[in-house]
Amino acid sequence: MTNSADQATGSITYAPMVVCPNCAKGLEIRSEMYDSFFMAGSTPCARCQNEFDLWRAIREGMAHPANPFFLAGAHVTEFTTELPVGQPRAVKLLDFGIDSDARILDRLISTISPGGEHGLNLAVELMQPWKDERPIPGGLLLAALPVGESPPSSVGVSVRVIWLEGRSLGPGRESLLLALEALHVERIDEVVVPSNTAVEASLGPVMEDYFRPHGSGSDVERFLTDAGYSNQLNVLLPMLAAHLGLPKFPEEIRGALNRLRRLRNELVHRGSLRHRLEVGEARNLISAAAFGTEYCRLIRQRQTASGRAS
Ligand SMILES: [Zn+2]
Repeated sequence: MTNSADQATGSITYAPMVVCPNCAKGLEIRSEMYDSFFMAGSTPCARCQNEFDLWRAIREGMAHPANPFFLAGAHVTEFTTELPVGQPRAVKLLDFGIDSDARILDRLISTISPGGEHGLNLAVELMQPWKDERPIPGGLLLAALPVGESPPSSVGVSVRVIWLEGRSLGPGRESLLLALEALHVERIDEVVVPSNTAVEASLGPVMEDYFRPHGSGSDVERFLTDAGYSNQLNVLLPMLAAHLGLPKFPEEIRGALNRLRRLRNELVHRGSLRHRLEVGEARNLISAAAFGTEYCRLIRQRQTASGRAS
């Protein structure tokens, strides 16, 4: 989905975006952008047509995210509505272009109307007591909370929802989302394991598809287990890419994935990291994991295409 405005509801939905360093315009992130980066080393901007470095642009986006979950493909929808005092109002998100199976990652409810002479209304979201759970599936329950002697009869509310299409989540994307959530709440060390899992979970099926025709299921499984993730990433993946006629995974990003792998082992074996992980490095590692999962997607597409051709 690209950026879109809905005339009937006045809502605006923003796609996950990266900023072109040449023309400073926002570009919707699409898998073809990653494909150009891996195949040619740069990506053409759909606005100014100049080539740019997607790896750099993504890391810059991670440093100043308008949408903290953009790297996992999250959308942002904004709309305003009016709430009468005295009766909570159910707002169906589907009416504002948000899929019924969407995962709501974050929402911000802001009061926009000014107060009256002797009172005002605060727009609030009603939640289940004790749990961070919405009482209405696929919707928000909003209410105007009167304050003071004579508040006005209604209040304007501005709603900003960050959400993901439920169907877009494979195992790699799901782990990437966990890493972004950890970063968002500044639990920096908790970025490590899910970021690493995102790549391992994406690489596993690539390896199985490639080696399955060359041995029995159990032999292939044992071979890949014995090889381990490190050898899969650093030896088998370059071999497989060469066989499929694809460029190698970029050295700099593979280096980041190896740092991530070592940190993951440190955490799992020691229970904590020797040195605190800096937030800038955490952003680099999540970005590298996203590129790792996208490279695996590209390889699988090529595997499927060459399987059909033979
Ligand atoms: Zn541009």
